[in-house]
Amino acid sequence: MGENQSRQRAPKLPIGSVADDYTGATDLANSFAREGLRTIQTIGVPREGLVPDDVEAIVVALKSRSIRAQEAVAQSLDAYRWLVERGVGHVLFKICSTFDSTDAGNIGPVTEALRKESGAGVAIVCPAFPGAGRTVYQGHLFVGDRLLSESPLRDHPLNPMRDPDLVRVMQRQSRGDIGLVPFSVVDQGPDAVKARISELGRVGAVAAIADAITMQHLETLGESALMEPLSTGGSGLGAGLARALVRKGLSSGAGGDALQRVDGRPAALAGSCSAATLGQIAQARAQGMSVLQIDPASAIADAGEALAAIERWLAEQSGDAPILIATSAAPDVVAAVQSRFGREEAGRALESLLAEAALLLMSRGFRRLVVAGGETSGAVTDALGIEALLIGPEIAPGVPVTTGLGHASGPIGLVLKSGNFGDKDFFAKAFEAMA
Ligand code: ADP
Repeated sequence: MGENQSRQRAPKLPIGSVADDYTGATDLANSFAREGLRTIQTIGVPREGLVPDDVEAIVVALKSRSIRAQEAVAQSLDAYRWLVERGVGHVLFKICSTFDSTDAGNIGPVTEALRKESGAGVAIVCPAFPGAGRTVYQGHLFVGDRLLSESPLRDHPLNPMRDPDLVRVMQRQSRGDIGLVPFSVVDQGPDAVKARISELGRVGAVAAIADAITMQHLETLGESALMEPLSTGGSGLGAGLARALVRKGLSSGAGGDALQRVDGRPAALAGSCSAATLGQIAQARAQGMSVLQIDPASAIADAGEALAAIERWLAEQSGDAPILIATSAAPDVVAAVQSRFGREEAGRALESLLAEAALLLMSRGFRRLVVAGGETSGAVTDALGIEALLIGPEIAPGVPVTTGLGHASGPIGLVLKSGNFGDKDFFAKAFEAMA
C-alpha cells in the first residue's frame, strides 16, 4: 500500500494518549470529551476486553513523571504499543503544562523513545494551556505574566524549574537536536508550521518546541501535529488535536458523553479538608442530606470500631436519597489530628477507612459514588478495582461525570474531584448528573 493511501485511510481510533500522571490524564480526557470525542481514561494498560469498541479517544494514565527515565520509557512504550495495537492514529504524550521535569528526564527520553517506535519525523512539543495562563513565546514558557523560572515552579519540591527556555531544557534531556517553531511561523497557520517542521527534519532535529499563545495557535499545531504519529504536549494541544480531528471528519464531535447509565443508590465520600469541600458538605447538610461525620481522632485510634459504626449507620439509611460520609474537618481539627498521629499516618488511615466504607456501600447496593479529595479518590478507586473511566459531561470545570469500569459487580457511576473544585452545590449537582 502506498504511503498516501495509508495516510488517507481513517484510523480505527483517531487519538490516544500516554499521560505521565493521573490528574493530568483526567484533565486531558476531560478536554477530549469537551471537544466531543467519545473518551475513556484507563489506569495503566487495562486488561483485554475492558475498553468498549466505540470509543474515539483513549488516555492511558501512568505515574511516570518523576520516576527514573529508563522506567518511564519502558512504561510509556508499553502503553504506546498497546494503543497502536488498538489502531490509534495519533498518540499525544501528555505532559504537565509547566513542563515538570529534570535534566535527567522524563520528557526528552520518553519523546525520543516514542518517536523512534512510531517512526515519526519531528515531534511537535507544546505544553501551552492559555486558559490556565500557560503560554509559550520564542520557546520560553510563561505562567501568567511571569517566566516559568520566576513562578512558584522555581521551587517545586520534585522538579524545580529554573530555566524558562524549553528548547534548552529539552535539549539537556535529549540525545537528538531540539528545534523551535516560533510564534511568527505558528501565527501563519498549519502550512507554515508543516514547512518549518520539514525544514527542521532535514537538518536532523528529533523534536521542536512550538510557540502558542492562544487556542487558535493550538488548533494550528493540532492540525500540523496530525501529520506525524506522535506529539508531546499538555491538554491545550490535546484540545487542538481534537478540534483538528473533528474538522477533518475523523470524529463527529458529538460523542462527548461516553457514560453507561448505572442504577443503584447514590452516596458521597469526603476526605478532602479543603475550604471548598467543607462548604459543600455544609450546604449538603443544610439541604437535608443525611451526613455521617466521622471523628478523625477516634477513627484513627480504632479503625475497626469506626468501620463498625459506619456499618450501623448505613443499616439505618433506607430509601434512595443520597447520603454522605465524611472525615473532612476544619483546619484546627486537622492540625490537632496531624500533630497527634503524624500527617502521613493520619492521611493514610483516613483514606483507607473511606476506601473500606466504599466497599461497604457496594455490598449494600450503592452504585453511584461521589468522592471528594484527590488522594481519597485514588484510595477509593483502588479498593473498588476501578481500571478505567468512561468520560461524561463536566459538572464543574475539570470535573466530569464518569462511569468506572473494573469492579466485579459491573459499571459504577463515579464523580472524582480534587479538593478545591466545584461550587457550593457540587454534591447536589453531581448526584443530579448521575441520575
Ligand atoms: P484534596 O484533594 O483536598 O487535597 P485529598 O484526599 O487529596 O484531598 O487529601 C486529603 C488528605 O487528608 C487525605 O490523606 C485524607 O485522608 C486526609 N484527611 C481527611 N480528613 C482528615 C482529618 N480530619 N484530619 C487529618 N487528615 C485528614
